[in-house]
Amino acid sequence: MLNLILFGPPGSGKGTQAANLIEKYGLLHISTGDLFRSEIGKKTPLGIKAQEFMSRGELVPDEITIGMLQNKVNANPDVSGIIFDGFPRTISQARALDDFLSERGTAVTILVALDVPDDELVKRILLRGKTSGRNDDNDESIIRNRIKVYEEETAPIFDYYSEYGKSRKVGGVGSVDSIFENIASHIDALC
Ligand code: ADP
Repeated sequence: MLNLILFGPPGSGKGTQAANLIEKYGLLHISTGDLFRSEIGKKTPLGIKAQEFMSRGELVPDEITIGMLQNKVNANPDVSGIIFDGFPRTISQARALDDFLSERGTAVTILVALDVPDDELVKRILLRGKTSGRNDDNDESIIRNRIKVYEEETAPIFDYYSEYGKSRKVGGVGSVDSIFENIASHIDALC
């Protein structure tokens, strides 16, 4: 299995690149943000709980997030690989993912991080907010909080997978196609 963690701060282009990667490699795309938004749309108890945290730009607690992710993976047993988008976002989520994949006889293949300066992130997210319908995309202080949470809680995951030689960094500013080619070259070098 090709298990790719698509990594990077909010607004770095993970969703855009995931769409291209699905096409080229035939992978299942799991975005925890999309899963939460779907639960919120259906007004499930999980969605109502998650919304509380998301609307403040905070992380949803690990025990909710990890269970939801595992259900999604278990519901798709026959895939040739998975793009994890927005997961893991904490070291404990990374450990849980490693244990979970290892129980299934597989592992994280590679983590690719998209590198984009903070001011560019804020600009992109505010622009996206005009059409995304996402409340957390419309308020600069919430966006800045999401970036701060990323730096504090999520960024260390890059070093965590570096220890296993699995982390790669790609510039996330430029044309969508050229960024995609850089990501693909890292994947192709491994597979
Ligand atoms: P973005 O990366 O652009 O901020 P996402 O759609 O990935 O957007 O996530 C939106 C929100 O969903 C996050 O700010 C957070 O509140 C919540 N979320 C998504 N994934 C996770 C996760 N793995 N752990 C905790 N919270 C998460």
